[in-house]
This record gives sequence, structure tokens and C-alpha cells, in this order.
Amino acid sequence: MQFRDLKLQYQILKEDIDKQVLQVMNDCNFINGQQVKEFEKDLADFVGVKYCIGCANGTDALSLCLMAYDIKQGDAVFVPDFTFFSTGEVVSSIGATPIFVDVSKETYNMSTKSLQKAIQEVKKEGVLSPKAIIPVDLFGLPYDVEKINKIAKDNNLLVIEDGAQGFGGEFKGKKACSFGDIATTSFFPAKPLGCYGDGGAIFTNDEKIKDLINSYKVHGKGTFKYDNVRIGINSRLDTMQAAVLKVKFKAFKEYELTDINIVANKYIEKLNGYVTTPMIEKNYLSSWAQFTIQLKSKEQREFVQQELKKLDIPTMIYYPKPMHNQQAFSELKIYQENKNTISLCDTVLALPIHPYLKDVDIDYVVDNLINLIK
Ligand SMILES: *Cc1c(COP(=O)(O)O)cnc(C)c1O
Repeated sequence: MQFRDLKLQYQILKEDIDKQVLQVMNDCNFINGQQVKEFEKDLADFVGVKYCIGCANGTDALSLCLMAYDIKQGDAVFVPDFTFFSTGEVVSSIGATPIFVDVSKETYNMSTKSLQKAIQEVKKEGVLSPKAIIPVDLFGLPYDVEKINKIAKDNNLLVIEDGAQGFGGEFKGKKACSFGDIATTSFFPAKPLGCYGDGGAIFTNDEKIKDLINSYKVHGKGTFKYDNVRIGINSRLDTMQAAVLKVKFKAFKEYELTDINIVANKYIEKLNGYVTTPMIEKNYLSSWAQFTIQLKSKEQREFVQQELKKLDIPTMIYYPKPMHNQQAFSELKIYQENKNTISLCDTVLALPIHPYLKDVDIDYVVDNLINLIK
């Protein structure tokens, strides 16, 4: 069994993908080809924002947002303690300071209570200037949009939505990547909408910010390519990847998003009462980047993971370590104890999930899992 079956997906979409990729090779428009512009436009329409800007990956997408809003040394940026490393890394790499906020045990997303406490702590200390929050749409579920956006507004903070895992998710009928002042996503192969290598995008309604990002992503270009007015980076979405994404996006919209929700709901129904399953609150739709359960203890998780492996059921641990415990962040001051994050890192386990997962496979996972727990 595959954890996320990209091979099967390719077999199903092969004819279209091959045609589109060969077209790029025939045209030799490898850089900034028409496919990139078309895909950006399709994505902006789908998400419901004015501008989508493709870039090289989801990490660059976040960095470009921080650059465009001039976040720098001395600034505090609030990020979840329970997320992929990039979310905090980008803050440190531009010289600002990430402040790690605890998450909710039910949704895995940033806790509003912990966020408020962290903001107060930083303000009280008076050393760093609070500038932005990066809420993550973890495992496909949009963050606590209304509450976090309100806290941001009350404290005059920018919201950068890290939608690397959230693309396709919804809150109150609106799409993920439209909830922050600006948002990002990633097209890493295993993300909800993945390409065949690296890719990413930024979403915004702000024309000035869009122009700034378009400069930063092309070596800080001014009026033309060889006029450089600021220090930027080189970050492009390849035409080849855009060609793959165009085909995959069609399948994603037409049935993959629906089908993966069917799979997730079957898991939730069948596992109910045996393990803690993800909670999707009213008004939310997840795009299920992961299906993450919680076990009773680290020991039980280790046992379950090992036994499932013997049965050819692959599982993953996202994430085994809180951000604040990463060696790379060891110099940073710890503002609060993030109990939920610490406990989740010991008990979470992600099960195989993808839109093409068959009923027999779901049953095989569920039956064996329940057996092991008993
Ligand atoms: C994958 C991921 C990123 C980074 O995306 P890349 O395309 O791998 O650079 C950032 N944030 C989160 C939450 C992610 O899951």
C-alpha cells in the first residue's frame, strides 16, 4: 500500500500530462511560458483573489511575503510550534524572530488562547516589535480564520496564511489561501495539489504587494530585467511544472477533492471510539494533506506504527519534534510552555490517504489498527 499513491494518479492522468509536458519541450519555453500565466490565472480565480504569483517552492513563497512586507531584524512573527520547519525557518532566515505558539489538540491548528498570551508576553517585554502571524492550514484544514484574524486586527498584525498543506480547503464557502492579508501554498509532490518537482505560489489582492513580489522574485528587478533596484532572489515556477499542474488541477477540482473527503469520512466513521480522529468543525472543509490520528502514548504509537509496517501499511509522524525544540532554534527565548504541541509530537500518527484509496484498503487499515489497539 502507498501512503500517497502518486504512481496510480499518474497512470490515470498520464495521457494528458505526457502531452502537456511534451508540448513544453517542443516549444522550448521552459522559463515563464504561457502555461505559467494560465495556471496562475486559473488558481487566482479558484481561490477568489486578484493575483496569484508562481514561485519555486512553498518556502520561497513565505520568504517573498516577508520581504514584500519588509519584516526584518527586531520584528516578532508568531508561528505555530507544531508545523513543518519552513514556517519558522523563513522568519529566522530574514533576520526576524519566530515566536512559537501552541496549537489546539482537536484541530492541530494555532490556538487563539496561546497566541494572545504570546503577543502579550512579547509586548510586555518590549524588545521585539510584533509584526505578523503565520497561521498554518495544517494537514489541509484552514486555521481558525475569524478568531485569528480578529486578534491580528486588534493588535495591528499582518496575517500570512501558510496554505502549503491547505490548498482546496474551505471556511464558510471561501477557499483556503484567501484568508490572510496574503497567503502561500506549495506544490511539493505530496501536497494536496502537487507537481512533479518543486513549486509554490503566493495569493494576494494587493496590487502594490504583487508588484513588489514580482520584483523580489526576479533579483529585485526594476523597470526591466537588468535594472536591479533591490536585493531579491531567483524564484520561478517552471513551465514544465505549470504544464503538469494544469492537468492535475483539473482532476483536483473535478473529483480528487471530493474523493479524498469521502475517504477521510470513512476513516472517521470507522475509527470512531477507537482512536482520536481529526475534528473538522462546522463550516470547514479540509483538503486532507494528511489524515492524522492520536494514540494514547508514545509507546502505543511506536507499537502501532511498527505492527502496521509489518502488514505493509505505511504511516508517518508529522511532526515528531516541536519547533521550539529544534536545534536550529536553540538560541531563541522560550515564551511559554506549549503543552499540546509537546503531547501531540508524541502521539500523532498519519495514516495513508489519497483520493484513489480503495474501500478494501481503508478497511484493511482500519481493521488492523483496531485490532492492534484492542
Ligand atoms: C511543505 C510546507 C512548506 C514548504 O513548502 P516547500 O514547497 O517544500 O518549500 C511550508 N509550510 C508548510 C506547513 C509545509 O507543509
